[in-house]
Amino acid sequence: MTSSEASTQSTAADPAVESHKSPKEEEFSPQQLYTSRVVLTTYPSQLGIDPIPLTWGAATPAERGPVVVSRQQDSFGKRNAIGAGGGSYCIYRALAVAIGALSPTHRPDFGLTEPTHIIGPFPAWSDPEKIVSMDPWGHATVEHYHEHLEKGIDVRPTIAITQAHMKLAEIDDAIAKGILHCDGDIITKGGELKVVKVASEPVWHLPGVAKRFGIGESTLRRALFEDTGGMYPELITRPDLKVFLPPIGGLTVYIFGDPAHISDPTKRLTMRVHDECNGSDVFGSDICTCKPYLIYSIEECAREAQNGGVGVVVYFRKEGRALGEVTKYLVYNARKRQEGGDTAANYFKRTEFVAGVKDMRFQALMPDILHWLGVSRIDRFISMSNMKYEAIVESGIEIIERVSIPEERMPADSKVEIEAKIADGYFTTGAMPTADTLEAVKGRNWDEIAH
Ligand SMILES: [Zn+2]
Repeated sequence: MTSSEASTQSTAADPAVESHKSPKEEEFSPQQLYTSRVVLTTYPSQLGIDPIPLTWGAATPAERGPVVVSRQQDSFGKRNAIGAGGGSYCIYRALAVAIGALSPTHRPDFGLTEPTHIIGPFPAWSDPEKIVSMDPWGHATVEHYHEHLEKGIDVRPTIAITQAHMKLAEIDDAIAKGILHCDGDIITKGGELKVVKVASEPVWHLPGVAKRFGIGESTLRRALFEDTGGMYPELITRPDLKVFLPPIGGLTVYIFGDPAHISDPTKRLTMRVHDECNGSDVFGSDICTCKPYLIYSIEECAREAQNGGVGVVVYFRKEGRALGEVTKYLVYNARKRQEGGDTAANYFKRTEFVAGVKDMRFQALMPDILHWLGVSRIDRFISMSNMKYEAIVESGIEIIERVSIPEERMPADSKVEIEAKIADGYFTTGAMPTADTLEAVKGRNWDEIAH
């Protein structure tokens, strides 16, 4: 790679593209989009490559520096991160540009988008090892990096904070049954839950992520390069760039009660960390306990907030234990078809046959969001997961009480999952299942499933 190729890229192509007109004003022809040579990768010593300093874990946002991942003209040489913004949605953005619906030089207008609530800063924000998988200043880019924005550097928020009301049939039911009451504040008289929401996209500090998993940074970089089809050559060619924005889903935080209470040790905190299960969470599939757990935790969070504390549900986009729904359904089929039927004894084995591992959620990065929120103690942790529990406790956060889902809320067909998980180390206040129990706990046969 020569320096001229890099500078060719940075003096982009189409004069129409450079005019900064909105897509409505300007038609973009896909043929005119990219007339310069492709810059497959960059190198640290290349002419025109001069990344904005980025010191992960620095004390202030100014010392830390903005995360710049854009390949736009004004930002290309100053990029200090690998990957692309938007998590997995970067691909849709590429599609929008390719079909001419979006100008590749479109600059967001961030007017009026500032957070509705102030969160932090907390000491963990300037600890390079406490938070390694999100940008602690990701919600405050406009506030702290407006000078960069004014110079044309394409800095984008990776966190947004808003507020809303939630209306759920299950919460209406709980109110009707007297399990919850409308206090006119946390739950409105109309039965709506007031919530503060935080969305966060992943921003990985590669040395920190590698250290969290006890592996070398170069091993991590090579694996990310190889297993994304060689998608990000800079993982290999730019060891000087330590930050990577991976094309994966992020997380959402739902806060019930005053967000300021989360970091206040005099206030009680109820929390659930939930990993996405679209089939159950949204569509009510009854083969697992995901939705009942989610609803139960929302109820418990609302109750904690009504009692003067605060409740937090963190929702991670890690569908099917981060194996994805296709793998999940393949496993469902194998579980139901195997000899002897769907037993707790074979629950994890069937997943391992298909995926090679039983779980790819790797909870080691999960506590980052808790440290970002300023959590130092969780009074009630609504989860049976030993992996989540250990990851949180090992990160220095105290968990006072572990709360499992009440027996009567478990769907019948989910017993297979629950018993298998308990035998595998999940938390329970009940009896440990024996080998005989695991054989005996059976899911529904396929001929019992209504079509
Ligand atoms: Zn589920």
